[in-house]
Amino acid sequence: MNPGKYAYLSGNFVPIEEAKISIMTHAFNYGTGCFEGIRAYWNPDQSEMYVFRLADHYKRLERSGKLLMMDLPASIDELCNITVELLRRNEHKEDTYIRPLLYKSSTVIGVRLHDLEHDFALFTSPMGQYVEVEEAAKVCVSSWQRVTDNSAPARAKITGTYINAALSKTEASLDGYDEAIVLTDSGHVSEGSAENIFLVMDGVLVTPPVSDNILSGITRSTLITIAKDILGIPTIERSIDRTELYVADEIFLCGTGAQVVPVGEVDRRRIGNGGAGPVTSELKSLYENIARGIDERYPEWRTPVYNR
Ligand code: PMP
Repeated sequence: MNPGKYAYLSGNFVPIEEAKISIMTHAFNYGTGCFEGIRAYWNPDQSEMYVFRLADHYKRLERSGKLLMMDLPASIDELCNITVELLRRNEHKEDTYIRPLLYKSSTVIGVRLHDLEHDFALFTSPMGQYVEVEEAAKVCVSSWQRVTDNSAPARAKITGTYINAALSKTEASLDGYDEAIVLTDSGHVSEGSAENIFLVMDGVLVTPPVSDNILSGITRSTLITIAKDILGIPTIERSIDRTELYVADEIFLCGTGAQVVPVGEVDRRRIGNGGAGPVTSELKSLYENIARGIDERYPEWRTPVYNR
């Protein structure tokens, strides 16, 4: 990884090699932090970079922080400006990932959420594809279950909870699959290790509801909007059985890092013709063109970095 030259830590822009924290940091010891993953798209024809749905990511960080008893260090507008300023200082001219972290910064021993200080950090790094596949991913249903709201809430993007994602991703990768799909404790389809999931069934989109322990994904909500507005395809949010995966017409995963990833195989059963289905392909190219500002619809989703 070749991160940007500068990071933002404790209220200051600092060289990345100086953005360091103590090994006693509470969040490092206990996973008591929350974070976001945001993408900025480079548009070479316009010599412009667009951050996709920037304020919506900070709104989710605010909600994650609430759960962990932490406030944002500044208003959402101010955090958006700091993010754009960091991207400018780092002079990125390629697709870039942005990682804000809100975390318990006290250097004390003792597992809890109260009576602790917190801090905010931000760094950026170029990022291409997150799930590396030629045309479509081969996925498996994980032997690991998704965390539940009464154990570690999936609705918040909590650092410690990502051990759940790491366990399922590593099992899938070491077994030769591109991604894992995790089920809820009641056996319903929840999501990928770091992506939400959609099925195409008889011309409509079907996706698990937030109550099936998914992260309420920003890409998920973007695709629901685009599918309805542009393609006239409705989305049904309902619980999905494991075996519905095997008989779906199309399946795709989606997330900020992953973007739209067609699924060609689940547990060695072919989905459609094993490649990217027609609805998936259409949504994938609409999403990528809108995020990059090639398709100029939904300007409210794009924050320009260089020509403001
Ligand atoms: N689920 C999980 C567990 C994730 O980590 C992510 C990536 N943030 C997603 C879903 C997709 O969310 P988003 O579209 O907001 O990136």
